[in-house]
Amino acid sequence: MPPSRSPFQFDNSYADDLPDFYVEGKPMEVKSPQLLQFNHALAKDLGLNVENLSEQELAEIFSGQKLLNGSRPIAQAYAGHQFGGFSPQLGDGRGLLLGEAIDERGTSWDIALKGSGATTFSRGGDGKAAVGAVLREYLIGEAMHHLGIPSTRALAAVATGEQVYRERPLPGAIFTRVAASHIRVGTFQFFAARQQSDQVRLLADYTIERHEPQLIGKEDRYLLLLKAVAEKQAKLIADWMLVGFIHGVMNTDNMAISGETIDYGPCAFMEAFDPSAVFSSIDAQGRYAYKNQAPIGQWNLTRFAETLLPIIDEEDPERAIPKVEAILNDFVNQYEKLWLSGAQAKLGLEDIASDVDVDKQLIEDWLNLLEKNAVDYTLGWRRLADAAEGNAEPLLALFPIKIGVGQWLARWQQRVEQQSASATAAKMRAVIPIYIPRNHLVEEALEAATLESNLKPFQKLLAVLQNPFEERAGLAEYAQPAPQKFTAEYQTFCGT
Ligand code: AMP
Ligand code: MG
Repeated sequence: MPPSRSPFQFDNSYADDLPDFYVEGKPMEVKSPQLLQFNHALAKDLGLNVENLSEQELAEIFSGQKLLNGSRPIAQAYAGHQFGGFSPQLGDGRGLLLGEAIDERGTSWDIALKGSGATTFSRGGDGKAAVGAVLREYLIGEAMHHLGIPSTRALAAVATGEQVYRERPLPGAIFTRVAASHIRVGTFQFFAARQQSDQVRLLADYTIERHEPQLIGKEDRYLLLLKAVAEKQAKLIADWMLVGFIHGVMNTDNMAISGETIDYGPCAFMEAFDPSAVFSSIDAQGRYAYKNQAPIGQWNLTRFAETLLPIIDEEDPERAIPKVEAILNDFVNQYEKLWLSGAQAKLGLEDIASDVDVDKQLIEDWLNLLEKNAVDYTLGWRRLADAAEGNAEPLLALFPIKIGVGQWLARWQQRVEQQSASATAAKMRAVIPIYIPRNHLVEEALEAATLESNLKPFQKLLAVLQNPFEERAGLAEYAQPAPQKFTAEYQTFCGT
């Protein structure tokens, strides 16, 4: 029975069921918490009754100054491979899980603070966050959600009224994140690295109960858990690739078992199509470049699988390897299938099973043209929908070197010839966004908030991104890529 949904009724299943997976924590006190943004629609979905609270009360609650009824703040323990190197202890160094809200359907959602001060896991860090990083996570997470891509959500951003010290002093803030859970590949690695398979089993059973309840009681449930997680990651990464999202820091501690995109740090949306694109200042080798995301997904899943071997086959973990490998290999097939069907949908193709090889070639040639011409990845696809209705001019204008474009268009048009042109275009526009978080607009919005306490650009951008598929009058600038000079110099930084 889910507890009643009176304002802020909390469950603490993680804290109750996994006593060795966290330490208690307490949000730091802050001088003058001030609400920057609050997601009322999400609060409503979660069954949080906040209608009668003032902005000041919301600011106090979502900066941890006022603890919610029944909430037991904890810092979760996890390990992780960062850029390939293993750290046996990371954990929430600047975040606290307040507890789990239960929605109307009985689903529980983690409500967690980020930037709420140092914890046992801070390793010398200050546990704080800056306004810019907080609003960035707010904006991109919400954009992803409205693009239909699984993501943690933004419930609140609260300014602390204090400064945080990075390369320069910056205004501080606290972010409230909502997630299906914060269980990461790194959470499994924490106890696996300590050879404590009883703890790994406890976590696996908890995870199954929370995310894969259809597996409860099944004999091979841990193997099936791996399969379910792999399927969700295949879907997630295919979604990322289809919109040109680059996560930027796909460490195993940043891969959520729930299949949600988590930890928006140095992420970015690609503009000119370039499979090698990488924006993160800390990713000099391009480990997490656009084109590497699926292989890295498989690499991370392999680390996850390793943690499960001793509980899949208690007597002889090695014996489980072939079964696990079959799932890890199948990840590639799953990913490719999902990517292909997503790309077919973006090309407006009906009858997608008829000639898969022809479609694959069509897509590959299209991407080659985009790359050769450095065409904006979002607009390239979107203007194809206009071409479906007979207006190829806006599309052609995106290609500086037009060689081959006409031939390709003729092939594609032949492929969609039997379909209704207007229906095809409408279907394409339902899966190809017109508005994505354009890097220069994101930076402008964060700068205005940071330097001038001006939230208007942030709020306007957020509103645009909440409806990314429908082109609206007066928003042309939100659909345009950054000036070339901006992109050439654009680097993203970890949101610490
Ligand atoms: P991330 O790269 O943001 O996923 O964070 C990696 C690890 O560093 C996590 O354990 C974080 O909790 C920790 N961390 C990041 N920033 C800070 C900070 N300002 N203070 C303390 N710990 C931090
Ligand atoms: Mg992280």
